[in-house]
Amino acid sequence: MSIGTESLWHPFAAMESVKRSQTVITRAEDVWIWDAAGTRYLDATASLWYANAGHGRREIADAVTAQLGRLDAYHLFTDFANEPALALADALAARAPMADAKVFLTSGGGDSIDTAAKIARAHFALTGQPDRTILLHREHSYHGTHGLGTSLAGIPGNRVAPPFVPDVVQTAWNDAEMLEETLRELGPERIAAFFCEPVIGAGGVLPPPPGYIEAAAQVCARHGVLFVADAVICGFGRLGDWFGVDRFGITPDLVTFAKGVTSGVQPLGGVLASGAVAAPFWDTPGTVLRHGQTYSGHPVACAAGLATVELYERDGLFARADALEGPLLQRLQGLADHPLVTEARGGTGFLGALELVPDRPGITGRVANAVREHGVIIRPMVSALGFSPPLTATEDHLDQLAEAVRKGLDQVA
Ligand code: PMP
Repeated sequence: MSIGTESLWHPFAAMESVKRSQTVITRAEDVWIWDAAGTRYLDATASLWYANAGHGRREIADAVTAQLGRLDAYHLFTDFANEPALALADALAARAPMADAKVFLTSGGGDSIDTAAKIARAHFALTGQPDRTILLHREHSYHGTHGLGTSLAGIPGNRVAPPFVPDVVQTAWNDAEMLEETLRELGPERIAAFFCEPVIGAGGVLPPPPGYIEAAAQVCARHGVLFVADAVICGFGRLGDWFGVDRFGITPDLVTFAKGVTSGVQPLGGVLASGAVAAPFWDTPGTVLRHGQTYSGHPVACAAGLATVELYERDGLFARADALEGPLLQRLQGLADHPLVTEARGGTGFLGALELVPDRPGITGRVANAVREHGVIIRPMVSALGFSPPLTATEDHLDQLAEAVRKGLDQVA
């Protein structure tokens, strides 16, 4: 469907071409979306990795509508609270992978990254280690596009509009010994936090090598560095658990989340901080973290979050993710014989990728467009195609996905 725009500036878009040709989405239901021409597509990306409960869930919409009729909006600054924010914080803390978790609510993933970075640095400033300012991140990482997130970008193309935030250092994505080496070179007493996506998402769906996450968490613990699990993609069932780290058995110090917390229905994110990280702020009279967003704890967003959390549990959706991760990888491996494909990745959570040949610039976009002509939306990433369907998908949907991808690959080859 081709509709021009004179004013809407799309994110991550070549506007010179997009201004002449857009895909206007008008309706969504479960794993399906429709464009303005009425064409139906399988949403094999769950929009931007977030529609984990499937689109159009009545329970979430009803919770939003009911909340709008009660308290449409009010802020959380200073001592103001609202019931949905209190209940959501309790619900998330009860499911957190760390003890006595405190929940700072934001408007999305990028806000949460900024919040976690500032909490980490401020924590050390308050506890007599003001030299701990350096933030470590991994190659291929994606932590959003705010100032801090851009500085923490491991995807080279996303490092736009320098100069970056000082005291940010990149390390290998897959090697805990290198992490320890980086720490020693910089001086562990200067490192505040290590940002780590359990499975790297936008950087190409890179599951960690076996043992890496566990070893990296141990390195951090050994040197007093806070481990920040960026669960913006991996949380809320994508890896089969609440915050994307249960399967690795680690205890992070901070967790950033967004997306799936409302299945994307309302813009909401947040940070979980362990009781120990939060203690200097919570237990010292007069101490204020001068940080927050206008929409932190927005009651309508939090009502959506509460309804979504209930839905995940009621429908057992995380178990479905566990059951589907193998079948998705199997479908992708079935495509690995294609001459345009160099590798199939996945098997750690219900997300996967096909790496394409390196010598054909722009090929991922061309294949994604061709696959779309066969009724399936997939995601072109750096040099790979990404797949992350709603957790409500079935094996039949995965078959349809594989068939469309093969046709798209053939078309471009
Ligand atoms: N962290 C990760 C791992 C992400 O994937 C994203 C978004 N894709 C973000 C942070 C940023 O979230 P947002 O786009 O909501 O700012």
